[in-house]
Amino acid sequence: MSKGVITTQSSCADDYDPGSLTCDEALRRLLAAVSPVDGIDHVTLRNSLGRVLAEDVVSNVNVPAYANSAMDGYAVRSGDLPVQDTVRLRIAGSSYAGKPCSATVQPGECVRITTGAILPQGADSVVIQEHVERLGDKIRVGGGHKAGDNVRAAGEDIAVGQTVLKTGRRLTPADLGLLASLGIGTVPVRRRLKVAFLSTGDELKPVGEQLAPGEIHDSNRHTLHAMLTRLGVEVADFGIVRDDRAATRAAFKGAARGRDAVISSGGVSVGEADFVKEILNEQGKMNFWKVAMKPGRPLTFGQLGDAVFFGLPGNPVSVMVTFYQFVQPALRKMMGEAPHAPLLLKAVTRSRLKKKPGRVEFQRAMLECDENGRLSVSTTGMQGSGILTSMSQANCFIILPMDSGNIEAGALVDVQPFDGLI
Ligand code: AMP
Ligand code: MG
Repeated sequence: MSKGVITTQSSCADDYDPGSLTCDEALRRLLAAVSPVDGIDHVTLRNSLGRVLAEDVVSNVNVPAYANSAMDGYAVRSGDLPVQDTVRLRIAGSSYAGKPCSATVQPGECVRITTGAILPQGADSVVIQEHVERLGDKIRVGGGHKAGDNVRAAGEDIAVGQTVLKTGRRLTPADLGLLASLGIGTVPVRRRLKVAFLSTGDELKPVGEQLAPGEIHDSNRHTLHAMLTRLGVEVADFGIVRDDRAATRAAFKGAARGRDAVISSGGVSVGEADFVKEILNEQGKMNFWKVAMKPGRPLTFGQLGDAVFFGLPGNPVSVMVTFYQFVQPALRKMMGEAPHAPLLLKAVTRSRLKKKPGRVEFQRAMLECDENGRLSVSTTGMQGSGILTSMSQANCFIILPMDSGNIEAGALVDVQPFDGLI
């Protein structure tokens, strides 16, 4: 700053800025501006994990398809069972899983049955084998049994006509099992999102190259690549773009072509060369936001050619925080996923947390269950936006509200576990 000039532009040094957007408002605007992509792929069950369902799945079968036994034992008519004393029932046949019994169980009879086998005609209950005494071709049964015991009713898991999975669901391993149980081998899912990403900065060198003084390795493209891969999008890496007008113009143009979204990091914070903003405005429609959050205040969002554009800050932790808080929910909406709120827990902080009022803070922390079964968190230490070890050691964000100041150890805080973030 030259002598005698007082800057009125906000920097990361002051925390309260009336010109900034709240996180909630920024997210609301992002989500309102994006919509799901068209296009459906029909993929095999095995290839559908993590894909987003494009249609409701309605069952046209009952699961289980027939009443069957939940235990190994004897299928009986409940009317034959004694209230007191015991009765003897003749074993009229057997029903094994995959080998049903064709006979109907008559009064005074039973059928030997194993788990999962069809309940034979006439029977309505199963008495487990430990509760009977076997006497040659008969069994002896005592009291204490009820009609329907140990029987799984037809359709008790899924009934014909039931919507089993809804459009917009990101398919999980359990869902794949469920679809298999309905006999569904091909699944309609939204087409994959195509996302390009790049880094900007003269100081950046790719991994594997020697660093000259003042240079650093480009880590953002690796965190971005990894986060995008987990999300299940088709990625295109546009490398490192020099702080140069022509290179930036060409890279943004190439990245947007045929893509649904472009993500860049660096280059748009206060003090960066203005031409990045200029080129973005020239190639699309951009919003340059200051979001009341820490880390990650500057955020650029708009339309670059036909692609949605996210311009993230350069600092490595800011990239990850803004990705998880803004980019990921927006991409998930574009992928056709139904709205979801990330899991938020309350936990006791073991550490004193330093905080100035004015911005929401996403502090990196370790969430654990203490000796008394209570959830507790402790900070990973230094919280600078360049300290990537803080993200690597953490398994959650502690989210401190805008107006909060320092938090004393022992207080309850909001925690967002990384496990809920994909
Ligand atoms: P910028 O927003 O471009 O001013 O970058 C802010 C800070 O983040 C600077 O210290 C940059 O060196 C650093 N930075 C920017 N891009 C990357 C990257 N791709 N990998 C690691 N650090 C970066
Ligand atoms: Mg830069």
